[in-house]
Amino acid sequence: MMYCSKCGAQVAPGSRFCSGCGASIADGAGLHTQQGARLPRKDPAVAALLASLPGLFGLLGIGHIYVGQTGKGVAWLIAGIILVFLGFVFAITIIGLLIAIPIWIAGFIIWIVLIFGAHSAARKFNDAVQRTGQAPW
Ligand SMILES: [Zn+2]
Repeated sequence: MMYCSKCGAQVAPGSRFCSGCGASIADGAGLHTQQGARLPRKDPAVAALLASLPGLFGLLGIGHIYVGQTGKGVAWLIAGIILVFLGFVFAITIIGLLIAIPIWIAGFIIWIVLIFGAHSAARKFNDAVQRTGQAPW
């Protein structure tokens, strides 16, 4: 049994086009022999959302965990919790604010960078799955 490498639909032997997505199938190119060979796509919008919303609460890296960069995501998750903790601890005193404010600014910049990072990582993931059928990391 063959499956379309674009959408994963089952393709009847000898057909020229995929019945699922209409992709042309030339000489068996664009076909997988196993359904499991195709990894599910990662939605860049979902990756960006998962990076942005929990990130507002200091939970960074969720978008990277979603696209499969688990190590990087968990590292940012831990770093984000430490940043928020330090941000509050230093903000208790007026002099501490001098340290707390740069921490919050740094956290904000990291938050923005990780949103864009998760978005582009999802696209890289999809490109790699499209080309090789495997995750790029
Ligand atoms: Zn298809």
